[in-house]
Amino acid sequence: MEHAKITLFPTLLNGIKLRCPKCGVGKLFQSYLKQNDMCVHCGESLKQYRADDGPAWLTILLTGHITVPLLVYLVRNEVMPPWAELILMFSLTTALVLAMLPSSKGAFIAVLWFIAQSHKSEQAR
Ligand SMILES: [Zn+2]
Repeated sequence: MEHAKITLFPTLLNGIKLRCPKCGVGKLFQSYLKQNDMCVHCGESLKQYRADDGPAWLTILLTGHITVPLLVYLVRNEVMPPWAELILMFSLTTALVLAMLPSSKGAFIAVLWFIAQSHKSEQAR
């Protein structure tokens, strides 16, 4: 298993699914956004991979591309009264952000892990 070639897409998918980037089985988080120090399944150390502000940036980027066109459509076509638009957009934006943030953080941790593994395999040559 140690000599198997690691590819980005399955690693990224593991992160998006909130799983360990190495084995894809162990949970990445012990609570909503609290990262596990190590994988409970394979023992891979995860504490050194810090996503910092990356997940917030990615979540805002993705959420904005969904909510802004919808808001523009609603305002231009006067589909509903402004107070209803405000309630809808606030609820939708909050729900999308809360839903996307863990997967965004998982994706960043997975990419950081992948980069570290790539560096290790280059140094081993
Ligand atoms: Zn693992």
